[in-house]
Amino acid sequence: MKDITPSDLFHNLPLVTSDTNKRRKEFIFIGGPCTVESEYTAHCIASVLKAAGIEYFRGGAYKPLTFPYRNDSMFELREEGLDILSDIKDELGMKIVTEVIDVRLVDRVAEVADVLQIGSRNMYNYPLLEECAMTKKRILLKRHFGASLRDWLGAAEYILNKGNNQVILCERGITVPHTHDSNARFIADINVIPYVKKYTQLPIIIDPSHSTFNRDIVAPITYAGVAAGADGVIIETHTHPEQAAVDKLNAVPVPECVDIFNKAKQIRNLLK
Ligand code: PEP
Ligand code: MN
Repeated sequence: MKDITPSDLFHNLPLVTSDTNKRRKEFIFIGGPCTVESEYTAHCIASVLKAAGIEYFRGGAYKPLTFPYRNDSMFELREEGLDILSDIKDELGMKIVTEVIDVRLVDRVAEVADVLQIGSRNMYNYPLLEECAMTKKRILLKRHFGASLRDWLGAAEYILNKGNNQVILCERGITVPHTHDSNARFIADINVIPYVKKYTQLPIIIDPSHSTFNRDIVAPITYAGVAAGADGVIIETHTHPEQAAVDKLNAVPVPECVDIFNKAKQIRNLLK
């Protein structure tokens, strides 16, 4: 697949590659369930993360589910989910990361979210990217699982071109011929991290949850990503991982999420 050329850097990616996007020193750690399931579980998870020093809470209120059918066990709580996230923000002082799947929802989701998540499937949805950019919020731009680095940075350029350089790139796994796991569709592209850093000062974080679909290897893939230069991590965690409504195979128990956070910080500090 075609990838970045010197001409792209000059003509097509002038904003993404600009030195003015000064890399911040922060380490971005985001934890929480795939989807907001209930006020009680969301608060249980969030309060432990907050006490451990984790700043960002993630949880889907609107989900890009593979099939159009919904039932009560899938917990796409929509407005109710946003209200729960809003309470967590007010009561615990955490920053909220949640996905926007529809251009018509951007303003509403931005009332609650500190970081608007663009899901992998929407990386190519340029009108959605532009609408999100105009809120001036931080944008977590997940890489499409089949996207080249050229296409991914091109999507980021759309956001910067609307006057918002607060983009956080997120590597969330790509499709490959083999994943070594009968349940997994993707594999973490660790190589992309140093390549991203070669071209842009925008932060890049790793999502070991969706790139592994296996809670047993979330920790080592996190550490590999941080060792390769990732500026942060987004991890799915749950009080009862095997009962999680969505993505139960990758959710780690909350104490493990905290442990991964602490070790990832140490790796980051060691390599500084
Ligand atoms: C998610 O973060 O829950 C999610 C759906 O991720 P992705 O868009 O990477 O599949
Ligand atoms: Mn998920």
